[in-house]
Amino acid sequence: MWPGCDKMKPAMNNFATDSITAPTAPPEEAIAEINGLRDKLSQANHRYYVLDDPDISDDEYDALMRRLIALETAHPDLITPDSPTQRVGARLEGAFPEAAHRLPMLSLQDVRGDDELSEWEKRIRRHLHLPEETVIDYVCEPKIDGLAIALTYENGQFTRGLTRGDGTRGEDITANLRTVPSIPWRLRLDPVPPLFEARGEVYLPRSEFEKMNERQAAEGKPLFANPRNAGAGSVRQKDPSVTASRPLVFAAYALGAFEGLEIKTQTELLQTLRSAGFRVNPSSKLAHGLDEARAFIEHWREERHRVDYATDGVVVKVNGFSLQNELGFVGRNPRWACAFKFPPEEAVTRVLDIGVNVGRTGALTPLAHFEPVEVAGTTVSKATLHNEDEMRRKDVRIGDRVLIRKAGEIIPEVVKVLVEERDGSEREFVFPTACPVCGGDVLRPEGEAVTRCINAECPAQLERLLEHFVARGAMNIDRIGEKLIKQLVAAKLVRDVADVFALAKEQLLGLERMAEKSAQNVMDSVEGAKTPPLSRLIYALGIRHVGARTAELLAERFGTLDALVAAPLEEIAGVHDVGPVAGATLRAWLDEEHNRHVLDKLRRAGVQPVEGEKTAAADSPLAGKSFVFTGALSMPRPEAEALVKRLGARVAGSVSKKTDYVVAGADAGSKAERARELGVTILSEEEFAALISPAADNEPGA
Ligand code: NAD
Repeated sequence: MWPGCDKMKPAMNNFATDSITAPTAPPEEAIAEINGLRDKLSQANHRYYVLDDPDISDDEYDALMRRLIALETAHPDLITPDSPTQRVGARLEGAFPEAAHRLPMLSLQDVRGDDELSEWEKRIRRHLHLPEETVIDYVCEPKIDGLAIALTYENGQFTRGLTRGDGTRGEDITANLRTVPSIPWRLRLDPVPPLFEARGEVYLPRSEFEKMNERQAAEGKPLFANPRNAGAGSVRQKDPSVTASRPLVFAAYALGAFEGLEIKTQTELLQTLRSAGFRVNPSSKLAHGLDEARAFIEHWREERHRVDYATDGVVVKVNGFSLQNELGFVGRNPRWACAFKFPPEEAVTRVLDIGVNVGRTGALTPLAHFEPVEVAGTTVSKATLHNEDEMRRKDVRIGDRVLIRKAGEIIPEVVKVLVEERDGSEREFVFPTACPVCGGDVLRPEGEAVTRCINAECPAQLERLLEHFVARGAMNIDRIGEKLIKQLVAAKLVRDVADVFALAKEQLLGLERMAEKSAQNVMDSVEGAKTPPLSRLIYALGIRHVGARTAELLAERFGTLDALVAAPLEEIAGVHDVGPVAGATLRAWLDEEHNRHVLDKLRRAGVQPVEGEKTAAADSPLAGKSFVFTGALSMPRPEAEALVKRLGARVAGSVSKKTDYVVAGADAGSKAERARELGVTILSEEEFAALISPAADNEPGA
C-alpha cells in the first residue's frame, strides 16, 4: 500500500501550510476573487489535462494557484472539496472508459528556492518531533514532465493502465499503453506478487517532440506547446496504432497498491521496480541530509538540458516508509515529498514587432520583438524566428500572443501562437525581397531555408563578421567594439577583416569621439593580436560551419595556414569530426579569389599565426584545473568554457570540493553560495580575465 495513504485526511484540509490562521468573516472581494480564480484554474486544467493544449504558461498557472492557496489559507471556511487546490487534474470527459484507482493518485507540493525547501524540511521535523541534528535521508530524482499513469499487474500480468485523471478515477488507456515498449507485459519478479501497481511517468523524449511538431506543421495541424502535452496527447489517442507510432517511454518511480512484498524504503522501492523490469530514472540518488539534496538540485539545474526528457524540477522524497507513514498527507499532497521547481522556461507574451537581422554570412533572420518577459530567470524581449519558412510554419504575426521558451543557453524561441486569442488586429509580416540594410539583392537558393543578402559589400555582413573576428575566442582585439566597428565600416576604413591590421592612428583620430589615448590603445591591441594560435585565426575568418572546435582540429591536423590552403577537399573533409559539409564550405571559401586576397593581405600586414599547435595546453598554469561558471557573464558562456578548455582546464556543471574556481557573473545564485560553503575560490569576471590572460599568453607557441 502507498505509504501514508491509510492516514489520508479528507479533502477539506488546507495543504499549503500546516497552521491555519483564525478565520475572519470573508469579505465580498475575497469571495469574488476566489470564485474568479477557481474558474480560471478549472478552465486551464481542462485545456491542459483534457485537450493537451494549454493557453497559459505553467508559471501563470502556478501564480494563480498560489494566489488561491493564499486566499483559502486566510479564509479556510471558504475551502470547498471541489476547489482546484483540493483536487488533481480535471474532471474526466468520457473520451475513454473510466475506472477507480485502488489508492488515490495525488500531486506534489511545489517548492521554489532554497528557503522554501528549508521550510519544507522544518515542517517535517516539527511533525516528526525530530531535532536538528537528526539527519533525514531523501531520495532525489529529476522530475520528468510527462503524464502520470498507474499500471496494474495481477499475478504478474499487465491487466490495466489508468491515467491519473482526477486523482480518484482515471481513464482506462490499457490498449494504448500496451504499445509502449518500456512497459513490461509481465513482471520479472519471483515469486510473483498477486497485486502490483507501478506508477510513473509516460513521456515523449524531447528530440521526438521536435520531430513530431515538424510533422504536425507539415500536415497543417496545430503544434504542441511542449513535450508534456505532446506525450499526453500521444498516449490518449483513440486509435492505439497512433500511440504505437509515437516513441513513448515509461519511467517508474512509485508503487500504488501492492500485495506480497515487503518494502521499507524508497530506495528499495526503486530497486524492486528495476528488478520487476521497469525503467527507473538512472539519475535518482540517495541524499544523506538536505545539503546533499541541495547539491543534487544544483547539479540538475544545469544538467537538465543535457537529458532527452523534459524536466521542470527535482522530486525530493523522505526515504524511510515508517517516516512517510507518520507524515501522511495534507490535501492533495504527501507531506513526505516535494517538487523543487526550476525557474520556468516558458512564458506567454505579445509580439510587438518583427524585424530582420542580417548576419555575417548574409543570412536574413527574422526576429520577433515582444513585451519583455521573465523566462528561466532572465528578462527577454526578442526571439529568433529562424527563417522565413519557420515564421510561416508558426504563422507568427505582429500583435499575436505567443508562448516562448528559453532552454539552457539557447536564445529564446517562439513555440506557438495562441491563435484563439487573435482579434483580427494582428498583422502578417512581409518578408523583405531586398536586404533591409544595404538594399541589395537577396537570394534563396533552391532547397534551402535561408534567404541571403548577396552583396559582398553589405555593411551589415561586414559589421557582423568584424564583431566575430575581433571577439575574445577569435583574434581577441579587445579595444575594437561594436560602436567602433560601425564607424570604421561607415567611414570605409575597413572593407574586409585584413584592413583592421592596416589601420593608421591618424585615421582613427579622424573618427568621432576618438582621442589620442584611445586611438593608441586600439593600435596596441591590434598589434598585440598579430600572432594568434592558428586555430583562432581559422575560426576568426567566420567561415560557415567552421566553429572553434573545427578550427582546432584543422590547426592540429595541418599545422600551418599554407598547408591548409593547399589541402585537397578529401583531406580536409577527412579530418575526424570535420566532415563533408564543413570541409566543402571551407574548401570553397579558400578557393575564392577575394578570400585568398584577404589571407594575403593579412600575411602582408604581419599577421603570423603560431603554428604547430597543441590542443591541451599541458604547460598552461590552468592545466587540470576545474571551473564552474554561474550567473551572467559578458561573453557567452560557451565561449568562456571553450576558452578555459583550450587552456587545459575542465568545466563542470556543479560545485564540489574538487572545484578549483567558480566564476560568478551577474546574479550568481546558489552555486556561488555553495562555493562559499565549501571554501572554493570565487572569481569575479574581472578576476577571471586576469587569471586567464597570462595563461592565454602562454598558450602553446604564443
Ligand atoms: P506537478 O506536475 O507539479 O507534480 C506532480 C507530478 O509530478 C506527479 O503527479 C507526477 O506526475 C510527476 N512526477 C514526475 N516525476 C516524479 C517522481 N519522481 N515522483 C513523483 N512524482 C513525479 O503537479 P501536477 O498536479 O501534476 O500538475 C500541476 C502542474 O501542472 C502545475 O504546477 C503547472 O505547472 C502544470 N499545469 C499547467 C496548466 C496550464 O494551463 N499551463 C494547467 C494545469 C497544470
